[in-house]
This record gives sequence, C-alpha cells and structure tokens, in this order.
Amino acid sequence: MKIIDTHVHMIARTTADYERMALMHTVACCEPAFWAGYDRTSAAAFHDYFTHITACEPKRAAKYLIQHYAWIGMNSKEAENVALAQEVIGIIPEFLGAENVLGIGEIGLNKNTRNELRVFELQLDLAAKHGQMLLFHTPHMDDKLKGTKMMLDAVRAHGGIRPERVCFDHVEEHTMGLVLDAGHWAAMTIYPVTKNSPARVVDCIERFGMERALVDTSGDWGPSDPTLLHQAIFEMRRRGYSDDTVETLVYDNPCRFLGQNPKFKLKPRS
Ligand SMILES: [Zn+2]
Repeated sequence: MKIIDTHVHMIARTTADYERMALMHTVACCEPAFWAGYDRTSAAAFHDYFTHITACEPKRAAKYLIQHYAWIGMNSKEAENVALAQEVIGIIPEFLGAENVLGIGEIGLNKNTRNELRVFELQLDLAAKHGQMLLFHTPHMDDKLKGTKMMLDAVRAHGGIRPERVCFDHVEEHTMGLVLDAGHWAAMTIYPVTKNSPARVVDCIERFGMERALVDTSGDWGPSDPTLLHQAIFEMRRRGYSDDTVETLVYDNPCRFLGQNPKFKLKPRS
C-alpha cells in the first residue's frame, strides 16, 4: 500500500522521521508554508524559509525515496502585521514556478481578525491571478466553525476560484459537511494528544464518506507524529475496511486533489 501525507512540516522533523515514513510506505509528502514556532521579523526570513522548503527539503526527502512537494503562502498566525504580510505576499510569485510548488498555502484564519481576513483575501487574489490551487488552514480554537464560514464566504464572494481546486485543512465533524457541500476538498489532521485522534478521523469518514476527503498528520515542531497516519490506517483495518478502500483514501484521493497541478507526478491507481 502506498501512502501520501498531504500536510507535514518536515523542516521541523528529524531525518529519522523520513526514514520511519519511508519504511511505512509513505511515497510523497506535502509541506505547506506556515508559522515556524516564533514570529519572523522580516520578509527576508520568509524568503529563506520558502527557499528551504522548495530547495533543501526535497533533497532530504529524496534520500528516502519520498517525493516532497510544497505550498507557499503567508500564514494566518503572522498575518496581524499587514505591512509585513504584504511584503511577504510580494515575494510569493518568485516561488510559484519552483518544481515542487503545488499552489498557495497554508493560508487562512487563526483568530478570525479583520487583518487576517485581509491578508487571506489578498492571497485569494494572488491565486486567481496566477491560476494557483489553494490549501487553507482553519482555526484550531473554539472559533473553527466561525472561521471556516468566513473563509467559505470569502471564496464564494471572490468568484474567481474553482471550488475543487481548494482544500480546507484541519476540518472536524462540525465543519467537514459545510466544506464538502461547497464543492471543496476537506482534510482531517490527526494529532497525538488534542484535536483529531485516529479513531475520530475514521468516525468522520464513516459519517461523511471518502469523496474529496484527505487525511494528514501536520507533523511539525509541536506535539505531532507523522506515523499517526499509519495509525488511522490500522484503525480502518481493525474496523474491517479492505486495503483497497484504505488506499483510496490515503493514496488515490491525494493523487486526485494534488494531481490537478501537473507538477504532481504520482497518479491514482485507477
Ligand atoms: Zn500546517
């Protein structure tokens, strides 16, 4: 069985994680640009970060036969500083042509502020102008539902973005239906301590189905683990799902969403 982790911050992981992922049949991973665990002080710091995830990380991954892809964007946690955000948005186009870049992300809302929304909308414009796909971060706090609705409204109001070229990440039971109903892809992130557990993710699949659904680990610098994806696979097997069905979720679906960008090289099995 082949596996794709559609959201994992490998810059924060050790080489041992690449090795573990490779041994557990992960063949590709996607690294969205995000917060680094601290607020950066200049656009130059973002430039270095974007260079790292487009030039350095693919080489680390290739040593473990893993294809590494990236999304470039100004994240919501640092978007309160609109002047800095605008400067960063100015350098994004420089990276969109990179061989491993699939689109603009992960962008979205964190505390649902006016400034975050402004920076989000600027990047919707940028995506439309450059014909880019989009990966969204939805808030992790109590206001996930409110933030998700604000983002859905912004995309709808924009009018220049095709819904199937957008994935909302970190969805849960109370947001997944809204996202799918709007024609977007919905990704669930599995965490080790809080938020979505492997069992909760499989419960969601049982409730909403697998069409336009993705599962990822968002492995980063905090409590997280790239092998949680494999724990969700084990949970599905334990509940009696066939390997074929599981692979549809963890391999074919990522190929279908990501493959809308011809730079993504893997193809679904059928
Ligand atoms: Zn992330």
